[in-house]
Amino acid sequence: MKPPMCTICYKEFLDAEEGGLVYFKKRSSDEKWINVMKEESMQGHPPFAEWFCGEHYEAAKELKELTIDEAMKILKEKYPKS
Ligand SMILES: [Zn+2]
Repeated sequence: MKPPMCTICYKEFLDAEEGGLVYFKKRSSDEKWINVMKEESMQGHPPFAEWFCGEHYEAAKELKELTIDEAMKILKEKYPKS
């Protein structure tokens, strides 16, 4: 797993109270990733999940019905300084 670091502002945080992992809607490439990981009995950071600090977590969660590509495009427009 990646250390928790906000994908929007790159702030690192220590525990879930300061943010969290948001799982977005899976793309077909993500379904393939899951199958490969299962077959190989591997674990890794899911390509459809990202960490968000407390400041950006709620906004990210609102977009979790979108794929990560769509959600990140919206979030980056909303928080352009990153
Ligand atoms: Zn943040």
